[in-house]
Order: sequence, then C-alpha cells, then structure tokens
Amino acid sequence: MRLEKCYFCSSTIYPGHGTMFVRNDSKVFRFCRSKCNAAFKHKRNPRKVRWTKAFRKAAGKEMTIDSTFEFEKRRNVPVRYDRELVTTTVKALKRVTEIRAKRERVFYKNRMAGNKEREKAEFISEVQRNIELVQAPSTKIKTQVSKILEKKTQKQLQEQDMEVDG
Ligand SMILES: [Zn+2]
Repeated sequence: MRLEKCYFCSSTIYPGHGTMFVRNDSKVFRFCRSKCNAAFKHKRNPRKVRWTKAFRKAAGKEMTIDSTFEFEKRRNVPVRYDRELVTTTVKALKRVTEIRAKRERVFYKNRMAGNKEREKAEFISEVQRNIELVQAPSTKIKTQVSKILEKKTQKQLQEQDMEVDG
C-alpha cells in the first residue's frame, strides 16, 4: 500500500481517496480533497496559504529537521516480500512515531516558551492604559458624591456671600 502526500496541504492520501492531476509535461499532482484541488486550480501558492504544511514549515511553526523524517522518504526500489522484514518494519514504525511525537512535543514547548509572560505583560499594559475603566463602582459613586457635595458647599458659600453683601 503506497501512501501519497497531497501536493497542496501535504496530508497523507490513502488509496482510493482524493484526485490526481497529470500535467502536460507528465508531472503528477495528487490532492487529498476537493478543497486542495480547487486551491491548486486557483493557482494558490501552498507556501502562502496558512493551513498548509508548507506554510507552517516555512514559518517555523513545525519541526522540519529531524532524523525521524528519513523513514518517510519515498524509495522506488522494489523489495521482495520477506515476513521477517515486514514484522521488524512494523515494530520500527511504532517506535519511530513514538519518538517523533515526543520530539514534536518538545518542539512545541520550546515554541510556546515565554508566551505566558509576554501575554501577562500585554494585559498589564492594557489595564494601565485604560485604568479609568477598571475602577471599582463603589469608588466611582463616592467620587461623584463628593463632587456633588463640593458643588453644594460652593453654592452655599456663594449664597452666604450674597447675603453678607446684601
Ligand atoms: Zn490536501
């Protein structure tokens, strides 16, 4: 069973799935679903479309250099069926996927390192910028009340002054 890669999004294409396009110069393009085929027909560049593997790899969002990728290479040398070889390969596959998952987790952790502190700093600066919106309602009322009282006393004082003048 040969598993192909989608030309556009690089996902795995299982036998009987997706579509294939053979260009005039006999270059073969395989697509995992109509979404990828349509994007290709629109002449979209997979490196510029954010949901593709090509973009994620180009933008440093995914592990690119790793020895575990060696196992996925396409080899065109036919191998005679050998039961021993198949069983060892299946065993190796399990181990390889395990190792890769572990490395990917580490890569993700490193990529996200420092995100929390950055976010926290951003939040703090935002709060400081708009501090007048965050004041507790009770203090707001207090300030309003004190302002009204000030006005009243000023008025009273003015009235008293008027009386004295009169
Ligand atoms: Zn695809």
